[in-house]
This record gives sequence, structure tokens and C-alpha cells, in this order.
Amino acid sequence: MVTESFSASSPAQTLRAERASVLEEIAALTRDWEGIVESASQIGVDDEHDPEGATIAFERSQVESLLDQARRHLADLDRAVERLNEGTYGMCERCGRPIAPERLLARPAARTCISCAAR
Ligand SMILES: [Zn+2]
Repeated sequence: MVTESFSASSPAQTLRAERASVLEEIAALTRDWEGIVESASQIGVDDEHDPEGATIAFERSQVESLLDQARRHLADLDRAVERLNEGTYGMCERCGRPIAPERLLARPAARTCISCAAR
């Protein structure tokens, strides 16, 4: 039996899978966001002092910050794919040393090694 530990989950596959799930997350959050905006317009809330308006504003800012995070994550993943193509994937962007495989497994889009990230 041949063990294919590398090809079983190559960085490219891991990144692709992670990218797909982030895209799904962005789509779901965008739907949430549209739903919130739509319900706000139906109620006709234009005053954030109105309790309902405040709740909607809060929900909207929650969703917006999640969307922001997801988009940043997507950008990191895209960057990781570029690095993969350039042949620099898995190298720390700061010190140039290899990033520990366990870290890449946990965070495929990691750009720095653990010691640089901790700095
Ligand atoms: Zn480093």
C-alpha cells in the first residue's frame, strides 16, 4: 500500500476547499445583510434612537464586520494561491523561513511563521 500523505491533501486542495467555504460564507452573509437592509426599509426606520432602528443598526454592523473578516480571509487565501504558483508558499513573509506544517494545516492562508506572528 502506497501512502500518499502529500497528495491526499495538498496545499492547493486545502486552499481550494477553504476558499469555497469562505465564498459560501460571504454569500450567506450578503443575504443576511440584504435581509436586514430590506426589513429596515420596510419598517421605514431612519432614526437610530428608535429601539427597533438601533437593533437593526446593531445587527447590520455585526454582519458587516463578519463580512469584512470573511473578505480579508478570502484575500489571504488568494494571496496563498499566488504564493503557491510562485513557489514561495509555506515560507514566512517576514523572516523567509519555512512555516511549520501544523500551522499551515490549521491555517492554510498563514503568511508568517509562528514566531513572527507572535511578535
Ligand atoms: Zn517568520
